[in-house]
Amino acid sequence: MNGLPARRLLLVHAHPDDESINNGVTMAKYAAEGAHVALVTCTLGEEGEIIPPELAHLAADRDDTLGSHRIGELGLAMAELGVTDHRFLGGPGRYRDSGMMGTEQNHRPGAFWAADVDEAAAHLVEVIRELRPQVLVTYDPQGGYGHPDHIQAHRVAMRAAALAGEKAYRRDLGEPHEIAKIYWNRVPRSVVEEGFARLRAAGADVPFPAVGSPDDVPGVVPDEQVTAEIGDEGEKYAAAKAAAMRAHATQIAVDGAFFALSNDLAQPLFTREYYELVAGRPGVPAGEREHDLFAGVGV
Ligand SMILES: [Zn+2]
Repeated sequence: MNGLPARRLLLVHAHPDDESINNGVTMAKYAAEGAHVALVTCTLGEEGEIIPPELAHLAADRDDTLGSHRIGELGLAMAELGVTDHRFLGGPGRYRDSGMMGTEQNHRPGAFWAADVDEAAAHLVEVIRELRPQVLVTYDPQGGYGHPDHIQAHRVAMRAAALAGEKAYRRDLGEPHEIAKIYWNRVPRSVVEEGFARLRAAGADVPFPAVGSPDDVPGVVPDEQVTAEIGDEGEKYAAAKAAAMRAHATQIAVDGAFFALSNDLAQPLFTREYYELVAGRPGVPAGEREHDLFAGVGV
């Protein structure tokens, strides 16, 4: 065995900040409970827009040093969540942020979107076979909202999960390992609608220029499609999630129960996180929601 705790959770994300927005409570909770929580981030987010004016010079069209700056932000965010195992796919800078869909950055050399899926997946197979996680969390096939790096992260994660279990595949990357459960990040429509209603009700108290819409939230699905919900009884981990999001200061502005990305559109900060089980057996009877991603895996 690999000497790690009995419960092991792996998350695959596209850019630094996605993990804190989508899974901050989940990561903080399982880390605090003694599970091994590992994050693989596929790019450095070099093409991100920058919120603080004093850091605008880091941008891709100026100094082009945002990537290394965001390595530091991710480190601070992981410290807030209590997560010590965070890595970049193939090492920092191996794959570059591909920019928004339809931009010329999609196809430049090194762009994650232009990467060969099998080649990129091999890096992740090595991590899976080393850590031997029972649970994998990543995006749905649209990457939640259509960003090329999110779509590619989904493809690479799903491909790597399949290859990691194949006995004949690349034994130089470790002993085969079958992941028991795979989840995609989701948000139930009722939760998004309730969150934006709360935001509109706060009205002038919301310190952002404008309010976003449910369309700004990735991975929204009908409630019945959501199969797992990680709550935060007593808001134990909400503060850690907000602090982790705040650590991504070039990308996220957090204020109380709300936050905004560089588009300045206020969104609700969700302190419950939701998932759809897409591979493996649920740990609860049909029709019920799981409240533990490890339910039924026998650890
Ligand atoms: Zn992203």
